[in-house]
This record gives sequence, structure tokens and C-alpha cells, in this order.
Amino acid sequence: MTFQSEKLNKVKNYIKEANQIVIVAHKSPDGDSVGSSVGLYHYLLKLKKNVTICHPDPAPYFLKWMKGTETILNALEHTDLLKEKVAQADLIFCLDFNNLSRTGEMESFLQKSNAKKVMIDHHLNPSNEFDVVFSETSSCSTAQLIIDFIEAMGDTQLLDKTIGEALYCGIMTDSGSFRFPSVSAHTHEVVATLLKAGLQPYIVHEAVYDTNTFDKLQLHSFAISERTEVVEEFNTIIIHLTKEDLERFNYVKGDAEGLVNVGLSVQGIRKSIFLMEHDGIIKISFRSKGEDNPVNEMASNYFQGGGHANASGGRWIGKMEDAINKVKNVLPEFS
Ligand code: 5GP
Ligand code: MN
Repeated sequence: MTFQSEKLNKVKNYIKEANQIVIVAHKSPDGDSVGSSVGLYHYLLKLKKNVTICHPDPAPYFLKWMKGTETILNALEHTDLLKEKVAQADLIFCLDFNNLSRTGEMESFLQKSNAKKVMIDHHLNPSNEFDVVFSETSSCSTAQLIIDFIEAMGDTQLLDKTIGEALYCGIMTDSGSFRFPSVSAHTHEVVATLLKAGLQPYIVHEAVYDTNTFDKLQLHSFAISERTEVVEEFNTIIIHLTKEDLERFNYVKGDAEGLVNVGLSVQGIRKSIFLMEHDGIIKISFRSKGEDNPVNEMASNYFQGGGHANASGGRWIGKMEDAINKVKNVLPEFS
């Protein structure tokens, strides 16, 4: 029972008392962090609350169709206003992360804040930086938990098309379009609830997946034909893109999205690792198949990251060549 009545009553009270609510999610926004933020935002607006979404950095273009994303403040472009909102907040919802260090530049603002902090999340090992923790690692997405939260609050009737589209986006993107093992009967039940509230799933699928630019497709083709290595011994694919590669294809944020999953779609491949040189560091995505084949320890032990068993992220400060060699050197330990 994730939304236990004692904790829920506490949060109900926080909401009732709150004059300024802020919703925060993790750095490098994805469909789930944006979808759950926007879904919760519209719900709280319906409760007539003052609410602002504050994210560490801007969302990629394929998520900006959601109604409400135009109001999101990010710490890179709206630093002063965002700081002010966080400082004034008396309640902060922390979504889709479980450790303040996942909020990048915002970490220190959040640490300074005296607001009550309520975490709703599905990652492993939550920290103790929150007043109330709703953690459910079996949930395929935070968005699914937001629907559970609204239901537990007794407000299912407040769900509508706008909230539905945002939350469906979170579920769809974090579950690999309903294909990962984390998808349960309950996932489909909450989607049924959204459908009854007016959601039209095809709109979300098209908005997220059918908005490719030709540059993006060419970048993917190039990565697969020129920057991919198969390490057969460990059933692993390693894909990388350098800064120059990104420039060549006029990279914009989000253009490399999905590439790591393409690696995992190859016959016999059990791990796919994607490295991208961007913003002065090498960002690394890890994906794997199988309960007996986690990648989160590889990410946390060697690449300053972590995440879910089959989907993790991390980074390398240094040269691409060294990062790739490190990956290859540690592969035997995780095979
Ligand atoms: P991505 O490859 O999409 O950047 O990250 C995949 C997943 O790994 C994310 O959904 C997130 O849960 C997790 N993740 C990414 N970077 C980090 C990190 O630095 N620390 C932790 N704990 N998790 C991360
Ligand atoms: Mn998520």
C-alpha cells in the first residue's frame, strides 16, 4: 500500500495549508518527469492551489506539446525567479527522483528550503531528505503513481483529458510503450481510468514519436553505421557519439533519444551502452534485458550514476576513448 492513510492525511493537510506549492523533478527531463509534473500541476490547480513547476533544465522538444509545459521554470533560463519560487514554497513535491542530488543546480536551493517535501517516485533506495516518502519501485512510472495518488485522495473525478495526456505520456515513455517487465495489470487499469476521463492515446503517441526531424534520423543512422561496436563475448553493443558528430547533424536536445534502445533490439544483445559527449562531459546510458542482468551497479560503481536494474545512467569526465575502454574493462564483472 503505497499511499498509506497516515502519510496521505499528512499530505492532505500540507496541501490544505500550502500557499505556494512547487513541483520539482530530476535533471534531464524525460517523458515521465515532465508528464508526472504536468499531471500533478493540473490536479493541484483544480484544488485551487498556487503551483509552479520548477525543473533543473529545459525539456526536449518532443515533450513540449503538453498543456502546461509553457509555464515550467527551469534553473538554467529562469534562475532568479525559480530560486524565489522555491524559497517561497511551503510545500514541494519531488517527482521521479529520490535523492536531491538528482536535481543538479537545484539541489542547494532545495536543501535551503524549509518547505515540506513530499517525494513520489519509483526508483530504488530513497534518501532521507524528505518529510513524506511515497516510494513504489514496482511501479512502471511515477506517472502511474500520480494516478494512484489522485485516486487515494478521493479525486478520480478530477482527472480529465489534459491530465490524462500528461500522465499517459509518463507511463508510455517509461514503460517502453507498455513492453517492459514493470508493466502490470494495474498499469492497464490506470490507463483505462485515463481513457474514461477523455484521454485519446494516439494523440500522445504521435506527439512523442512522430515528430522526428530528418537530422535526427540521419544522426541515428550515422551512429548505427559508424559508431557502433558489438562486444560479442558479453552480448553487448556500445554506441557512441562525439561532440563533432552531434554538430555535423545539427543536434538539438532529445535527438539521441531512443538510440540506446535500438542497440538493445539487435538479436542476441543483452546490454546496450550509449555514450555521448555533450556539455563538456560524457553522458552514458545503460540498458539491459533480464532480471539476472542489471546495469545499475555498473553505472553506480564506475560511472557516478545509478538507476533502475535494466535502465540506468551515468557520466565520465574525460576522453571518449577512455570511457569506452572503461566500459569494456568492467563488462566481465557484470556478465
Ligand atoms: P538515461 O539513460 O535515460 O539518462 O537514464 C536512464 C535511467 O537511469 C533514468 O530513468 C534514471 O532513472 C536513471 N539515472 C540516470 N542518470 C542517473 C544518475 O546519475 N543517478 C541515478 N541514481 N540514476 C540515474
Ligand atoms: Mn520515471
